[in-house]
Amino acid sequence: MIAAVRLPVFDVQRCCVHDGPGIRTTVFLEGCPLRCAWCQNPEAFREGRAAPRTVAEVVAEVLEDRAYYEVSGGGMTLSGGEPLLHAQAAVALLREAKSHGLHTAVQTSGVVPESSLAAVIGLVDLFQVDLKHMSPERHRELTGAGNDRVHASLAWLLARGAAVELRMPLVPGVNDDDANLDAVARLIADHGLREIGIVPYQRMYLAKYAALGLEARLRGVDPPSPAALARVTDRLAQRGISARIDG
Ligand code: SF4
Repeated sequence: MIAAVRLPVFDVQRCCVHDGPGIRTTVFLEGCPLRCAWCQNPEAFREGRAAPRTVAEVVAEVLEDRAYYEVSGGGMTLSGGEPLLHAQAAVALLREAKSHGLHTAVQTSGVVPESSLAAVIGLVDLFQVDLKHMSPERHRELTGAGNDRVHASLAWLLARGAAVELRMPLVPGVNDDDANLDAVARLIADHGLREIGIVPYQRMYLAKYAALGLEARLRGVDPPSPAALARVTDRLAQRGISARIDG
């Protein structure tokens, strides 16, 4: 029975406005194959901390804000961690959300097997996929894995007609150089897309790292200034890519 399926939910955030269209409730599942140096949700790294919740419980909470979704075009977003680490549980949650007519979005690193994408694709109205760094080596240094699987997942989704929104966590001195921006623009154009969301680096996660006893590799980095963001959006615009600030 779908409603009784359990999910490792470590947080549910209501009234989110950067996790897809409209006003949304974002459900965070623990576990992630990556270790991004700027990760805002390090509590997701270790599985087994969250008390599992049933699909019925989670959807009941999501539906509390149904009136907001209806006026704003919002819905439910599944995030993490990497929510597709739990593909079958994600299917159950998405199917239940769909049975209530909700718009669904999934935020994925793309570092998941094709079978996980295939399991959910028919239940997801929008995939949000991050482009973290275009150099495979830098991607590995910054996240613990290369970017080949990210690009393969992106191509797989687009080839099957999935709606995909690209996003880029923008970290000053890490991935905001012209060479990386130009490579990002080329990849977007190669896929016939024209837009990307820029998610400015924030420092709020540092307190979580301290509380969890984790080393924050980027603690000396400041968020991008308005001028730095304008330089990035201008650079992308010169290459035909529309960049909006998402966060
Ligand atoms: S993919 Fe997302 S959740 Fe996983 S480490 Fe990177 S930023 Fe954090």
